[in-house]
Amino acid sequence: MDAKIQTLLAWYKKHQRDLPWRNNTDAYQIFISELMLQQTQVDRVIPLYQAFLNRFPTWQSLADAPTSDLIHSWAGLGYNRRVLYARESARVVVATGVPTTETEWRTLKGVGPYMAAALTEFVNHRRALVIDTNVRRVIGRLYLNLPFPRPEDDRRILEILERVTPMRGAHWNLPQALMDLGSSTCLARTPICDRCPLQASCSSRMLFSEIHLAQTLATKQPKKIRERIHGEKPFPDRIYRGRILALVRKHSRMRITALGELIDPTFDRIADADWIRAMTTRLVADGLLIMHEHDIITLP
Ligand code: SF4
Repeated sequence: MDAKIQTLLAWYKKHQRDLPWRNNTDAYQIFISELMLQQTQVDRVIPLYQAFLNRFPTWQSLADAPTSDLIHSWAGLGYNRRVLYARESARVVVATGVPTTETEWRTLKGVGPYMAAALTEFVNHRRALVIDTNVRRVIGRLYLNLPFPRPEDDRRILEILERVTPMRGAHWNLPQALMDLGSSTCLARTPICDRCPLQASCSSRMLFSEIHLAQTLATKQPKKIRERIHGEKPFPDRIYRGRILALVRKHSRMRITALGELIDPTFDRIADADWIRAMTTRLVADGLLIMHEHDIITLP
């Protein structure tokens, strides 16, 4: 086995995070954890994960879930469409069984390349190459001398993963170990190299050892993917759409014209009217709201 990977896995054995979905063999529970972990921080997911499983404990219960229950149960996780896609996936699984390969996972709605590879490893215990931001960062730094790897570097990162991922044994521990090192030690802006089990063999260690150089490099980090932002608003539309849904959850029904001041303290009745309507229309198109006569909206 590659010497760096051997060191990393030995470190992981002692220092792995105690997460409720770790060392779990239930495909449904692992699926829900991966679904929640897309775009949402681990600390926020943990309490919501257990509550969601209590409410929807099986594929069948998710497949049968009414939309309004799902949206209620998804509060705090954002990107509400994910849970509606998950219900579609659950219906497929109930009808045809749990996927057994990466290709089969990819056929489920909302399951992208990362999630399919992760589920193949964690559910099926089949070898797959799992890349998320932590994995990309650690592999890029460790093997490629890339202090801030970007998605464009994934081809090279995949080549490394293909080379170093064990063919046998508990290879599903490798992505977990890379994620744990990335979130605890090999941090995005300033890695804590002095605490890293791989500092002796890391190709980026020297770069980070000089604080000034690290600061210079930090300014070269890739920009975040731009989200839709209306005018000079401080947050992307995603945040305001979430607020609209939260209001409808709370009051059962709302009039579109009453939303503005409630979701945005800087709301301007003239300049922002079309913006509110466009966001509401999008929520309706996504199946998260229903539009009634007289501009009334409710949950489905
Ligand atoms: S030595 Fe530093 S840069 Fe290299 S893997 Fe460890 S924390 Fe990351």
